[in-house]
Amino acid sequence: MAELLAILIVFAGVLAGAWALLRERERSLKQKGAEEAHSQFLAAAETSLDAFSILQAVRNEAGEIIDFRFLYVNANTEKMMGRSRAELVGQTLLSMTTMHRDGGAFRNFCKVIETGEPLRQEFPVQDDRIRAAWLRTQVVKLGDGLAITSSDISESKATQQRYAKLAEFHDSVFQNAPFSIVATNPHGLITAMNVAAEKLTGYSREQLVGKAPLTILHDERELLGKAMGMDLAAAVQRDGFKVLTAEAAVGEMQEQEWTLIRRDGARIPINLAVRAVTTDADEITGFVSIAFDITDRKQMLEYVTHMATHDPLTGLVGRSMLQDKIVQNVEQARRYGTKVAVFVIDLDHFKRINDSLGHASGDQILMEASNRLRRSVRSTDVVSRVGGDEFVVVMPDITSVADVEQCASNLVSRLAPEISVDGHLVRVTGSVGVCVFPDFASDAKHLLKRADSAMYAAKENGRNQHQIFSEGMLKESADRLTMEHALRHALANGELAIHYQAQVSLTTGAVTGMEALMRWNHPKLGEIAPAQFIPLAEETGLIVSIGEWAFATACCEGKALQDDLGIDLTVSVNLSPRQFQQKNLVEVVETALIRSRLSPRSLEIEITENMLMVNSEEMLARLERLRELGVRIAIDDFGTGFSSFSYLLQYQVDRLKIDQSFVKKAVTDANAAAVVRAIIAMSHGLNIGVVAEGVETEEQLRFLLRRKCDEAQGFMLARPVPASEFSALVRAHNAHALLSLQNA
Ligand code: C2E
Ligand code: MG
Ligand code: MG
Repeated sequence: MAELLAILIVFAGVLAGAWALLRERERSLKQKGAEEAHSQFLAAAETSLDAFSILQAVRNEAGEIIDFRFLYVNANTEKMMGRSRAELVGQTLLSMTTMHRDGGAFRNFCKVIETGEPLRQEFPVQDDRIRAAWLRTQVVKLGDGLAITSSDISESKATQQRYAKLAEFHDSVFQNAPFSIVATNPHGLITAMNVAAEKLTGYSREQLVGKAPLTILHDERELLGKAMGMDLAAAVQRDGFKVLTAEAAVGEMQEQEWTLIRRDGARIPINLAVRAVTTDADEITGFVSIAFDITDRKQMLEYVTHMATHDPLTGLVGRSMLQDKIVQNVEQARRYGTKVAVFVIDLDHFKRINDSLGHASGDQILMEASNRLRRSVRSTDVVSRVGGDEFVVVMPDITSVADVEQCASNLVSRLAPEISVDGHLVRVTGSVGVCVFPDFASDAKHLLKRADSAMYAAKENGRNQHQIFSEGMLKESADRLTMEHALRHALANGELAIHYQAQVSLTTGAVTGMEALMRWNHPKLGEIAPAQFIPLAEETGLIVSIGEWAFATACCEGKALQDDLGIDLTVSVNLSPRQFQQKNLVEVVETALIRSRLSPRSLEIEITENMLMVNSEEMLARLERLRELGVRIAIDDFGTGFSSFSYLLQYQVDRLKIDQSFVKKAVTDANAAAVVRAIIAMSHGLNIGVVAEGVETEEQLRFLLRRKCDEAQGFMLARPVPASEFSALVRAHNAHALLSLQNA
């Protein structure tokens, strides 16, 4: 028993030992686990990127939390707070930070302990001991304390703020952009618009955003149709927004000009660029449209185009644009079966007026003529200036040739009234040629050309009238070209000659002088009248060389005739306005006189009245120098121009030649007779010689004798003849004159 007891005791002892051992082992295992957990926790806490700390609540006697004490801080907390662990652990939160016991942050911490609810917050740091600008803090209850994890979010906050600023910046750019920006959803509903868009459209954001679609107005299709072509007009009717975004929807930037209709109804030309807004998957989420007012640009463009296509003097359509207009009108007439009439208008003798009155007056006349033409036609007709004094009128929508006839005669009569230029009344008539499509020309080119031929026909026919094109005119205009070509060679080929027409004294009946008149005999074209080739020579400038030759020849032949006849005959040479502009004119005359040894007193230069009215000092000085040479000056075709007595006195003219139109009518027309009487009386009063031109009948001669005209020239007395025949003519005439005077 005792043995059993002893065994039991021993056993108990063994058991107790074993138990103790077990307990010990368990304890050490536990401690080891705790230590392991502790070191694991430390490792985690220390390597955490966040600041981690454990604080224990500090309570007063009443059990209220009055502070927190740092139990643990990790390395990042040290860094963030700028203090070492030794400085922090054991210290209280309020003593180490700027936190207040009455502050919201402190109360929030207490609340975590009271409720067990964790706290998460982001806040800007005002404590300059803490090295972070923004913190994100997570506070969790841990026993009677807190575990606080704080991360420095300063950087992400800064980025966020930068983004916010950028967005703000973008918005400000959007709002203040100098052009209108309108954003829409994929269906066209306006989702945003900027200030410029409000200004441009006249609508406020409130009126349009989320309420109105961006679209093309249906009732604008006419306008758009005209501007953009018919196909588009049809599209507009179907879906306005789709038309606006068609290209943008397939990924292209669509840029077009449109007419914007403002809220007040005003129409503004705009440039509209549309771009689609898409997701990464290319799905269209909307459209952005940028528009700007192009009124100024349009106006500038229009101005420049106008300048380039219009005549600067008259503002009429210029030559290049005229061609286009004729082509357009012909195309249209072809399509609609109507007619187009083209009128070519050339002012009669404008060159003479321009040369004699000066360019400034010429310009005034051109402007008045262009105004008269404009007023004579409909606003849809085209009026163009194609050359110096040449105009073209294009009339579309003509139904009958009779209408054209009426319009042409209207143009002629509207041009005819006198024009007042610098105090002078000038009569500028026009010759009008007309051609009609499709009646007389099958295309635009022929239309203008044939109207031009008709104009020449009107000139040939006596000017101040109209002519409608006929086939016969084709030949005439070709003839004109041929003539121009031939004239260029006439002088070198020796085709020119001077004929002389005797001038007879009405007191003695004797030949006192002769007028040198140019003749052109072309081997193929035959005799060409000066009325035909002198204007052509003036136009082409050939008159300068031809005129020089005429002076030289007339002086030489005149001197030879004087010598042959033993009479001091006056040699009259015609001078055209163009020659008067010639700088070396005086030298040319002087050379002719020296070479021929003709006395300057025997040379008479015939100029027209208009040439006296030139405002050019240079030309008047030239006239003065001619007079100083001793050369005499006669006024040719007197009565047809527009000079006044004062000019005759001022320039000491030697002779007046009464124009043949008055002489011819003097015996039948009382007015013409009065003009002739007045000219003779005036000449005598001013002590100027007077010659009557174009005397064809005895009746006319008697009239002039009665009126005591000094001299006469005309077919009745003598026709122009070559120099070789002149002496015989004079001898015969003088003998005959003597006889008739004796008989009279
Ligand atoms: P003009 O100076 O008035 O010359 C008179 C014109 O009347 C001449 O015409 C002459 O032949 C014509 N004539 C003379 N008597 C009569 C008559 O009784 N009845 C009719 N019906 N006519 C008569 P022509 O020779 O044909 O010359 C025409 C114009 O050409 C001249 O008019 C003159 O302005 C110009 N001209 C002629 N030769 C020259 C020249 O050498 N130089 C310049 N610059 N012009 C010239
Ligand atoms: Mg003459
Ligand atoms: Mg004459």
